[in-house]
Formats: sequence, C-alpha cells, structure tokens
Amino acid sequence: MAGAQSPDAVARRLGLDQVSDLILHLPLRYLDETRLTPLAEARPGAHVQVEGCVRHAEVQTRPRRQLVAEIEENGDRLFFRLLHFYPSQVAQLRPGVRVRLLGEVRPGFFGAEMVHPFLRVVGENTPLPDRLTPVYPTVAGLSQHAIRKAVTAALEHADLDDSLPAAMLHSLGLPPFRAALETLHAPPADADPALLESRQEPAWRRVKFDELLAQQLSLRLAARRRHEHAARPLSGDGGLGERLLAALPFRLTAAQTRALDEIRRDLALSHPMNRLLQGDVGSGKTLVAALATLPALAAGAQVAVMAPTEILAEQLFLKFREWLQPLGLPVLALSAASKGKAKRQALADLAEGRARVAVGTHALFQTGVVFRDLALAIVDEQHRFGVAQRLALREKGQLASAAGDHTPHLLMMSATPIPRSLAMSYYADLDVSVIDELPPGRTPIATKVVSHARRDEVVARLRDYCRSGGQAYWVCPLVEESEKLQLRAAQESHAELSTLLPELAIGLVHGRMKAEDKAAVMAAFKAGGLHLLVATTVIEVGVDVANAGLMVIEHAERYGLAQLHQLRGRVGRGARESTCVLMYGEALTDIAKQRLRVIKENADGFAIAREDLRLRGPGEFLGARQSGVPMLRFADLEMDFDLLEMARAAAGDLLDRDMDAVHRHLRRWLPRGLDYLRA
Ligand code: ADP
Ligand code: MG
Repeated sequence: MAGAQSPDAVARRLGLDQVSDLILHLPLRYLDETRLTPLAEARPGAHVQVEGCVRHAEVQTRPRRQLVAEIEENGDRLFFRLLHFYPSQVAQLRPGVRVRLLGEVRPGFFGAEMVHPFLRVVGENTPLPDRLTPVYPTVAGLSQHAIRKAVTAALEHADLDDSLPAAMLHSLGLPPFRAALETLHAPPADADPALLESRQEPAWRRVKFDELLAQQLSLRLAARRRHEHAARPLSGDGGLGERLLAALPFRLTAAQTRALDEIRRDLALSHPMNRLLQGDVGSGKTLVAALATLPALAAGAQVAVMAPTEILAEQLFLKFREWLQPLGLPVLALSAASKGKAKRQALADLAEGRARVAVGTHALFQTGVVFRDLALAIVDEQHRFGVAQRLALREKGQLASAAGDHTPHLLMMSATPIPRSLAMSYYADLDVSVIDELPPGRTPIATKVVSHARRDEVVARLRDYCRSGGQAYWVCPLVEESEKLQLRAAQESHAELSTLLPELAIGLVHGRMKAEDKAAVMAAFKAGGLHLLVATTVIEVGVDVANAGLMVIEHAERYGLAQLHQLRGRVGRGARESTCVLMYGEALTDIAKQRLRVIKENADGFAIAREDLRLRGPGEFLGARQSGVPMLRFADLEMDFDLLEMARAAAGDLLDRDMDAVHRHLRRWLPRGLDYLRA
C-alpha cells in the first residue's frame, strides 16, 4: 500500500529526492530504552528508564491542564505528569497497567517525578530493545515512528556495499559503510549516546569522510578535465615588462615579483592557467595583473579584464591605460553604459583584434561581445562574482578564440584570503599566489570604535582634518533590504553633512547613479576638488586616492567583516597618517561588539577572514547562497580538518589506482553530479 506513510511519501515529506536518500537521513540524537533502572535508584537529576504499574491517573485542570499519574514497583513509587496528551492515553492509563517511562527524574511537590516522559505501555515480559532508539530530524506532522519504519525499509533495499577498498578503510581506521550506517540508525546498547551525538564516533567519521572524499574526487576530476583543454602557451614578453617597470617611480616588492614569476610560468604551459592572486588590500595586485598581460599581448593575442562594479572597472581601466598605452598597446573600456556608435566601434575593435585589452564589468561577457583571439582573462575581486559568471567567462574565451579550440588562461584576484580549510576543499582546483607584503612607505591605519552618541566630535574632527588639507570618506549606513532606502540613507547623510560642514566641498556617490556621473564625482575627488566623499559601498574595492586619510563608517555594525576591511583599505594609501572611525548605533549585541573589535585589533586581512569564518561559518563566507555551491551536510571543515586531510590523500590514491572505486563513490554521494564543477 502506497499510503501516506510509505517510505516514498516519508522521503518526499522530508524533502528527499528518492527513498534511497533516507539512508543518509541521520539521527540527531538517541533514546536509551535498552536499560531499566529500579524505581528505588531513580534519583533526581538522573536521565533513566523506569518501569512500574499505574496506581492512579487523573486529569487535573489547575494550575494547568495536565495528566498526573503515579506508578509503583516493589513498593517504590514515582509520579509523572503529561502536559500534552490524547484522550486515548487517559483511557489507557488504568490502574494496574504496566508502563515504561523514559526521562529525567526531578524533585517535585510530592516527591520525585518525571515531567512529560517518553511513555510506552508494556506487558509483564516485554523484552527491552537491544539498540538505542534514533530520533530523526523531522517536519511537522511526521512521526518518529513513521521515519524509523521508512528508514528501516530503505536500509533493507539499498545497496550498502562499500564504495571503498577494505585495505584503505583499514589503514584509515574507518568502519565499512554498511556497519557505519547500521550503527548510526540503530546503535548497539553499549554505544555511548554522547559520543554519537558529538559526531566523533567512528561511524560518524566514516560518513563525514565519505562526503569530503566525494567533494575531493569531483574537484580533482574537474581539474583533470581542465588540463585536457588546450590553451595557447605564452612565453616571454619581448621586453615589454622591462619597459613598463622602467617608467614607474617605484620597484616591485619581492612578493609581487614572486607572484608574477608564478603566473608567467603558468602562462607558458599548454593547458589553461587557473590561478588566484591573493593579496591584502593595497598590496599592489593591479600592477602584477598588468604585467601578466604582456606575454599575451606580445604574442599578438587579446586580454579581457573584468571587475565587479563600474567604479572599479573605471579605476582599472585608468591604471591599465596609464601603464600599457605608452607601450603602444591600446586599452578599451566597455561598460553596461556604453551605447550607440561608440559601443559598435568598440565591439568591432574587439572582434577584429584592433583593441588588445578590454576592461569592463560583466558586460564584457554578454552576448554580442566577441574577441578575435582572447588568450587571457583577468577577474578582479573574484569573490564578488558568482560561480556562474566565472564559468560564462571561460566559455566566452572558448567561443571567441581564433583557432576555436583554445581556452583562455584565467587569473583571478582577491583581497579576501581563503582559509586553509576552504582552499583545500571548495577551492582545491585553484593554484594560489600570495602577495604577503605591502609596498614600503605605508603608515598603519589607526582604527577607532566610537558610539553614535559622539557623532558631533567625529564631525568636528573631520572638519579639522579636511581644513588641514586632507581628504576623507564618509560611508553611510548599509540598508540591505532595499536599494531605494539605501539611496535615501546616502542622500540624507550627504544633506546633513553639507549643512553641518558648509565650508567643505562634499560629493556623493551611490550605486544608483549613472556611470558617467559616478566617474565624474570620483575624478573630482581624485583631483582634490572635493574634501569629503559621501559614499555607499560602491567605494568598497579598488578606489585609490592617496591623499584620502580619514574614513568614517556610520553604523559599522551593519557591515560584514570582509567588507569593513575592504572599506578601510581605501585609506592608508599614502604616507599620511590614516584613521578609520567605526561608528556604531546604540544597542550593540555582544557578537556585534566582538566583530568590531576584530577589525580594530587586526590589520591583516587573513586574520580577519579567519575570525569571520569562525563567527559566520563557511556557507556565509563563500557567499554560497548566490553562487549555488552545495554545502557539506555532515562534515564541518574546521572541526573535521583531520578528515579533510585524510580525504585529500585518499582521493589522490584512488584516482591513481582505482577508478572503479572513484565512480562507485561518486555515484553514491553525488548521483546528480555537480554542475558547478563542469568547467
Ligand atoms: P590592490 O592589491 O588592493 O588592488 P593596488 O593594485 O590598487 O592594490 O595598489 C595600491 C597602490 O599601490 C596603487 O597606487 C599602486 O600603484 C601602488 N603600488 C603598487 N605596487 C607598488 C610598489 N611595488 N611600490 C609602491 N607602490 C606600489
Ligand atoms: Mg585592487
């Protein structure tokens, strides 16, 4: 009978695709019904199962509606109360009926009692179960009993044969899959429920290991497929790099040189580079990226540079033009705002190969934009793009390359460091270069945390600072709910500051402005025509004005840690002493206080990212909700780091020696594949 409680129906109600998924619907905790404690030994505070015969039971209505009953065994007695009950239970609890109660004994008004115990009517000789009773995650209206039955049925029919070789499991100290699942769904009486619940029990470790292994295998396979794609090998830049560097007033830092060498080595290979250039805010990634374009440009190919916002794209465009144009390499800007004749011209220049470098937002990778011979794509602030956008970029290169079968090399940049656990998991397919030093001559930024109540003082300080020749940013409160409200907040801050500081020239930039208008305000600020720039997070990345040494962030508690670090990175770019003021609203929660303290006490983006991960968890960190990266269900990257390391080594082993096991394992754990990895 395919009734409402059939395994199929239960699976569906739990949101599972198929009955076999029930085997991985794992219990949250367990009840120990395998033991009886004599009533005489059921002391207050103990969590026990007792048995006895009902002496009397009655429904009381005061002080509240409840069923109060007393049981007796060998002359010892215990009260119990049920706060929710069915009429059938009242009828059932006649004097003399034998019951088992499972719960905590508490001191009560009349003596020891159990409040709302788990209750079962039994006979004189009902045997005790020999397994712990699982308690499953459930949804409203679906009973534990129904889930237990459905899971038992699923376990009977499912293929529980091991996907992994016995020798491997043995050397890792992990139980077979079948044994692990049997333990988790029906632990033996002597299992320790606390150990099970803490998920440190070998059976749990096996499941978590399997999950991590599946992730590692799929990532490695994706990397392999990538290596099978052909890319155009690019070696040497015909002396362009030396010419570019000779024109600069400074020298590359050792870290920049190292990163550049790593990138150049990748570019010379005949499969596509997939490299992340990671460096803290202000570490000089842009210059390294510009130098990385030269091998492609020297070979006569094209380069695309993509930024997440118009402002950042504009900044990148100016830098690239400043550096590349003198070498005779034309740079083109392409934004969503490009229109009409100019846009047609730009598209033709790209398609026919006259434009060699195109800088823009994701508009660069929309349909209609065709490159003649794209050999390298650079993505700035990569963590701000979704996975889908990154893939579109890769596809674009494939479609657009002249030979038709070349995949462009890909260089991504980010100031947000990837914690080691994430680098080993979700980003395992990525090579990473790190710029771990800032250019010399920077002064550290002093960070202050002050209450909104001291706003007047902050404004007075701002006035003094700007009058003495400095420039400043005022970041207005974040309003995530609506762009309209965000706009209003920005306009209000601007109007208010203009009234308070009539002697200063104050500009405003926000996300809803036209690109040209934004660019005009930014240009005025950069040229020193404005003292103060009131802004939303549009200035978060890439904006570079050395004379701006003071930043005030209003309602800093509403921002994420990475965002605050990025924002703060807009100051401290010159030799001037710099300050960042984090202003917070009145009622600050403990966690919010902790977060602001993290920013105040850490100048290093890596330390901040680690704290961020700790405070928020990896799902949030990855921005998974936008990017669609599936999260781990069982393993915890931080807590199960040892398993992650084991899984990584095991994945390498299996891929070398046992592809059958690889396929078996992926069929079990990722039956529907991982679309996001098909790069
Ligand atoms: P980010 O890594 O945050 O993108 P940028 O590339 O914007 O940093 O660099 C910040 C500033 O430092 C820019 O003005 C850039 O020209 C400058 N810069 C880059 N490399 C060096 C260097 N080796 N010495 C001095 N200044 C540098
Ligand atoms: Mg940058």
